Amino acid sequence: MFEFLALFVLFYIWHTLGVTIGLHRLLSHRSFSCPKAIEYFFVLSGYLAFEGSPMWWATIHRAHHRHDDTELDPHSPKYGLFNAHVGWLLKRGYQSHIDPAVHAKDLFNDPVYRFLEQGGSWHRAHLLTVAICLGFRLVILLCFGWVPALASLLAGFAVFQVPLMLNVLCHIPRLGYKTFATRDDSVNIWWVAVLALGEGWHNNHHASPGSAKTGLRSHELDPSWLVILLMNKLGLVSRMNVAVPEKMLLK
Ligand SMILES: [Zn+2]
Ligand SMILES: [Zn+2]
Repeated sequence: MFEFLALFVLFYIWHTLGVTIGLHRLLSHRSFSCPKAIEYFFVLSGYLAFEGSPMWWATIHRAHHRHDDTELDPHSPKYGLFNAHVGWLLKRGYQSHIDPAVHAKDLFNDPVYRFLEQGGSWHRAHLLTVAICLGFRLVILLCFGWVPALASLLAGFAVFQVPLMLNVLCHIPRLGYKTFATRDDSVNIWWVAVLALGEGWHNNHHASPGSAKTGLRSHELDPSWLVILLMNKLGLVSRMNVAVPEKMLLK
């Protein structure tokens, strides 16, 4: 049991960092620069938590920031909790105002992201995600046995829920606090930041989406930022955008 729990926690941290650092802070916001191998490592670590095509992920997330808490936002809880949680995920394909060719142009030339996107086919891209994610666990099963395979699979399912939960909770004002004046309903929630390794400081993030660091007060622990900072110290990250709270508009 101890082995299972330890492996579950390790897989959980690995996949969550894949989502927060790879899919979110790097691919969606380009908040820092690193070699392509590091980018693929983090993006694919997030992908293996059933996150879908990285190009689709970044395109939808950029649309969320462009239209935050308006009717054009793909998943604002202002327009229904079910849609904000999983309803938007079940809409097959992109809505008419969201186009990866326009909004994720920078990812189009990458052959790996193009392959995983499957020409924008929602069905094919998601089927491929499920096949690769299950195939990855099958390899673990054959090489290391059922305990790590099950721990990895359950951690993948758990991490899949993290951004879905965050999309809803961190846009419900009464659940958290707002430090900065933003036009949307985003709030900071400490326990979401714990589960999402720093992403729960969501009001900070909406106030400065291009920042690689989202925990901006001394008590706002941001493990994903600490990993980026460590990579910077090791010479693996060459550029980092860091928000300066003193220059940001307080609530
Ligand atoms: Zn948001
Ligand atoms: Zn974002």
